[in-house]
Amino acid sequence: MIRFHNTLSGREEEFLPLVPGEVRVYTCGPTVYNVPHIGNFRAYVFEDLLLRFLRFSGYKTIQVMNLTDVDDKTIRDARTAGLSLREYTAPFIESFFAGLKTLRIHPADHYPRATEHIPDMVRIIKGLLDKGVAYRKEGSIYFDISKFPSYGRLSGIDVEALRTTSRIGARLETDEYEKESARDFALWKAPKEGEPFWETEIGPGRPGWHIECSAMSAAFLGPTFDIHCGGVDNIFPHHENEIAQSEAYFEKPFVRYWLHCHHLIVDGEKMSKSKGNVYSLDDLVETRRVDPSVLRMFLISTHYRKVLNFTFEALDQAAAALKRITDFVYELEHRAFPDAGSGLAGPLIAEADAEFRDGLGDDLNVSSALTALYDLIRKANSLIREEKIGADEARALRSFVSQVDDVLAVLPERREEEVSAAVREKIEARELARKAKNWAEADRLRRELLEAGIVLEDTKDGIRWKIAPRKESS
Ligand code: AMP
Ligand code: ZN
Repeated sequence: MIRFHNTLSGREEEFLPLVPGEVRVYTCGPTVYNVPHIGNFRAYVFEDLLLRFLRFSGYKTIQVMNLTDVDDKTIRDARTAGLSLREYTAPFIESFFAGLKTLRIHPADHYPRATEHIPDMVRIIKGLLDKGVAYRKEGSIYFDISKFPSYGRLSGIDVEALRTTSRIGARLETDEYEKESARDFALWKAPKEGEPFWETEIGPGRPGWHIECSAMSAAFLGPTFDIHCGGVDNIFPHHENEIAQSEAYFEKPFVRYWLHCHHLIVDGEKMSKSKGNVYSLDDLVETRRVDPSVLRMFLISTHYRKVLNFTFEALDQAAAALKRITDFVYELEHRAFPDAGSGLAGPLIAEADAEFRDGLGDDLNVSSALTALYDLIRKANSLIREEKIGADEARALRSFVSQVDDVLAVLPERREEEVSAAVREKIEARELARKAKNWAEADRLRRELLEAGIVLEDTKDGIRWKIAPRKESS
């Protein structure tokens, strides 16, 4: 059984998708006005772990992640840069996709852009006007939250209490605001001097931020779907407003399970430009040479509903944890195992498999899942030392680790077959250098191979090579 903590009910619930065997997921994607930071990637890695686990559990998944390429921030910064929205956002979209690849985040099925779904948004806004849930004011269109009685259910704000402090009835134009200011929010914003706008049947203007997710989720997943994710900062007002728009328009329940990840902080503090503690992926991977697998290990190792504190010491711990797995794989791939085993590997794998699934099935409790894997490694290693693991059993253990890594995605992807052509060329070049007694060149090539993770052994039968376990990042 799989259970997830549902923000809507505030408790863990058994997960049952709308259509058996199939899970439809919408995740709020990046606002592409700057390079994503590692906090954003915490959210995307959590969502990736969730989707990988659902597929591992036998579900077919359909995932949609939007790209917010028009909102207050993209417009403000494109204008300052003197570029069109498309020109301004292009490099940030590229950087986002490069980051997904670096962290081995499995691509979503659809990455719709807000600017490509204006007609879908206009249709909903028009419908909300027709139903009397939205109203026009000075060229803009607002959602009237007093017309949606369950407004506040997701975030737990008390709209009635705010009403008595006379804030209700006031309007908010900005896309983001605090809980204390639950007010009518902009669905459509009147054109402003120097800002992009669209000519549409509801008048000229541009969409507010929230309406895009209601429109794009419905376009790809229908009016009701299984899971909606995001970071906790999305709960209010963004997701609260999505529910109001979608349910008022479609008159159907919007999302069945809301999953929100907590924030990543740095050295115990909120990331902020003024503190200089905002890290991009490039800052870590390119500049500081952090191994992306180690970074991913760090990002997945803390439960998604806990605050994750980024420090370089925590990265070292993640590297050490990952090394336990890579060392085990190396051992399984390179040791000479006896033909006959003890028959003990099978039950070990079955136990670890059940515990791994149960762990992740308990609201993605990754610590339990990893403990199941480490227990298997510890027990298998002592059996290996006692020569009780046969060649077939070693293969079964290796295959189990691969299956588990379909979810974790932390093991180096490089397989021997894939690197062998390039490696052989270098090995041959080194052989030639040795024959020519060019020791400096031969040593240089050996070092180069070592840096690429290839260890050479000169044996009486010639040169042997193998892939070294990944070095820990320092
Ligand atoms: P944004 O580009 O600001 O729209 O954010 C994209 C995603 O990253 C959203 O799901 C946010 O909730 C999430 N997010 C933003 N900052 C953090 C953070 N420090 N830690 C974790 N997730 C974050
Ligand atoms: Zn959204």
